[in-house]
Amino acid sequence: ATPLAIVRASGEAAERGILMRSGEAFHVFKNVRTIVFDKTGTLTVGKPTLADCQAADGGGQEVLRLAASAESLSEHPLAHAIVTAAKEQGLTLSTPTTFDARPGRGVLATVEGHTVLVGTARFLSEQGIDTLALQPLLERSRAQGQTAVLVAVDGKATGLLAVSDQLKDGAKEMVTQLKRLGLDVVLLTGDNRQTAETVADALGITRVLAEVLPGDKADEIRRLQAQGAKVAMVGDGINDAPALMQADVGIAIGAGTDIAIDAADVVLVSERLETLGQARELARRSYNLTA
Ligand code: ADP
Ligand code: MG
Repeated sequence: ATPLAIVRASGEAAERGILMRSGEAFHVFKNVRTIVFDKTGTLTVGKPTLADCQAADGGGQEVLRLAASAESLSEHPLAHAIVTAAKEQGLTLSTPTTFDARPGRGVLATVEGHTVLVGTARFLSEQGIDTLALQPLLERSRAQGQTAVLVAVDGKATGLLAVSDQLKDGAKEMVTQLKRLGLDVVLLTGDNRQTAETVADALGITRVLAEVLPGDKADEIRRLQAQGAKVAMVGDGINDAPALMQADVGIAIGAGTDIAIDAADVVLVSERLETLGQARELARRSYNLTA
């Protein structure tokens, strides 16, 4: 492509709310065959809300109160959902006396002298807690595409908080369009496999990489690249930054964290996912327009 064609395409992209950080990004983007999406905050709105709270044996509010207290020092969107719901129900929270965030897993805190764990089923199992009693509740919420957050108090699984997040407007149309352009669309998430698959199904995505810890996301991109294709990654969070850097084209959501935006080659300033397909078409056209 001529430099002029690139400049023109960059201008057109900017009008649609897509910031191309370099001409090189265009060049690589047109050759991308695989496009990987983070789930929370990228395909979903990223403002999860508490949909349900169940105790293993009654007393759902006490489960919520202890969980929200443990989460009150966490920055995670799931923690916000849990704390907000507890406050809305008029519950009085305690500040934890010890607090430990485990990225991709959950939190471990001391609340009113009790050891409280809040997080994934895997996290509880790793800590030697039996989650069998919560299995039916767990499966029900996952089948609905909700994120199941388990709660354990003093080594015993006591309840489950089901958190749901809305799909973004235009997410499904975007996936359809990218597939029509011949791209292989992949979902990459730290969330549970079954939840991820329910969300993927709703969007028409068939390739799912789930339960990937924050530190392993870049490795998953590397693995896809080793299969021979140029890979683009779309994400919004701090934990997506290494994967955005590793990808041939890193694409950040405009409302995402500064760290993700800094790591990206392309920024979706408009936050309208449909513009991604347009950006790819622009990249392709600007290279066919060689004059
Ligand atoms: P994502 O890939 O969706 O950005 P993360 O890597 O942040 O997700 O977390 C993966 C999973 O770990 C979450 O789906 C959740 O089940 C669990 N998790 C992480 N942090 C917390 C927390 N503060 N409270 C409860 N669960 C958490
Ligand atoms: Mg995210």
